[in-house]
Amino acid sequence: MKILVINAGSSSLKYQLIDMADESVIAKGLVERIGIAGSMLTHKYGDDQKYEIAREIPDHTAAMHLVIEALLDKRHGVLSSINEIGAVGHRVLHGGEKFSASILIDKAVEDAIEEYIPLGPLHNPANLMGIRACQAVMPKTPQVAVFDTAFHQTMPPKAYMYGVPYEYYEKHHIRRYGFHGTSHRFVSGRAVELWGKPHSRIIVCHLGNGSSMSAVVDGKCFDTSMGLTPLEGVLMGTRSGSLDPAVVEYMAMRENLSVTEVLTILNKKSGLIGISGASSDMRDVNKAADEGNERAKLALEMWAYGVKKYIGSYAAAMGGLDMLVFTAGIGENDGPGREKICEGLEFLGVKLDKEVNLSVRSREAKISAADSKVEVWVIPTNEELAIARDTRDIVTGKN
Ligand code: AMP
Repeated sequence: MKILVINAGSSSLKYQLIDMADESVIAKGLVERIGIAGSMLTHKYGDDQKYEIAREIPDHTAAMHLVIEALLDKRHGVLSSINEIGAVGHRVLHGGEKFSASILIDKAVEDAIEEYIPLGPLHNPANLMGIRACQAVMPKTPQVAVFDTAFHQTMPPKAYMYGVPYEYYEKHHIRRYGFHGTSHRFVSGRAVELWGKPHSRIIVCHLGNGSSMSAVVDGKCFDTSMGLTPLEGVLMGTRSGSLDPAVVEYMAMRENLSVTEVLTILNKKSGLIGISGASSDMRDVNKAADEGNERAKLALEMWAYGVKKYIGSYAAAMGGLDMLVFTAGIGENDGPGREKICEGLEFLGVKLDKEVNLSVRSREAKISAADSKVEVWVIPTNEELAIARDTRDIVTGKN
C-alpha cells in the first residue's frame, strides 16, 4: 500500500509518498514560503533526483494542487494515476479532548477540526485545506487524521491543569494539551531505544518554525511546553511563547486592539520575527546576527535562554535527566544554536563535544562529550512515517 502523508504547517507543506511494504519513501517534497515572496516546491524522487517548481503559491490549496501535479508529472512524477494512493494521512494540529488517537476522516471529524480552529489558529485551517484539496482530487481515497495532541494525553493533572477556577476545566476543557505529539512520540521512542535501560528521563527539544519541549519518563509524556494552543512555551518563528497573560489586556488598551487582534499579533508577528524585525526563519536570523543586527542577536539570545530554562525545569520535574535530544529543522541543523542552549548546563551533567556538535546536521548522532553524564543526541524526527503507520493500521482495520 502507498500512503501519502500531508503535513501542512503555517507557511510550509511537507509531503511524502511511502511504500508501506518496506516503509521506503517513494517521493517527498516541500512547499516552502507559502504566502511569502519566493515560494517554491521541491520534489525529490528516485536516486536523489530533484524537480523544482518556482511559482507564486498564495495558499495551502494551491500548494496541494501543486503536490498532486508533481506526483503525476510525466517526466518527474512517480505515479501514473492518483488511484495508486491507498490512503492519505494528515497531520492535524488540535484534537481537543475529542481525539486521543488517530481516526478515519468523515464529515463529523472535519467539523470537529473546524470547531477547534480557535485553539489552533495557524494550523487547523491549513490542515483542513489540505484535507479538502485531497478530497477534491481523490474523493474515494480514505483519509486519516493524526493529531498532534494525542501523545501528551499521559500527562498527570498537575502538569496539564492551569491555575484558573476548576469550573473552566469542567465547562470548557481549558487545560494544557501540548502539540508536536507525533514528533515527540517518534523521537522519544527512538531515544528510549538508544538509552536501552528500563528507566529513562528524556527531554526532547523539538525546535522548528514552531517549537516545543517535552519531558518523557519511561517513554510516556510527563509534561510539555505548549498548552491549550501552540502559543505557549518557548519563543518560536512567529509566536511569542509564554508571557504574562496581563500583557494581552495591556496591549489591547494601549494599541486600541481587540483581544483577537492581540492574539493574532502574538501568533503571527511575534517571536523571532517580532524581536529581530528581520525574519521568522532561523537561517535568516542567524545571518542577520552575523552581519551585526543587534535585534537579531537579541532574538537568538532570548530563544536559547528560553529553551535552557525549560531544560532546567523539566530536569527538576523528572528528578534528573538521562538524555537531552534535539530535533526538527533548527534542532537538527543549527549546531551553534544547540551550543548556545547547552552553554552553562554542565552543572546538570550536560557537556557537549563541541566539534562533533558543529559537524552534525540532519542525521542521528550523539553530540555529548565522552565524559558527559547526560547523553545529548540529535535524532531527526520522522512524523511522516509515524503518520503513515497509523494511517495504514486504521485503513487495514488493525487499529
Ligand atoms: P521546521 O518547522 O521543523 O521545518 O523547521 C524550520 C526551521 O528550521 C526554520 O526556522 C529554518 O530556518 C530552520 N533551519 C533549517 N535549516 C537550518 C540551518 N542549517 N541552520 C539553522 N536553522 C535552520
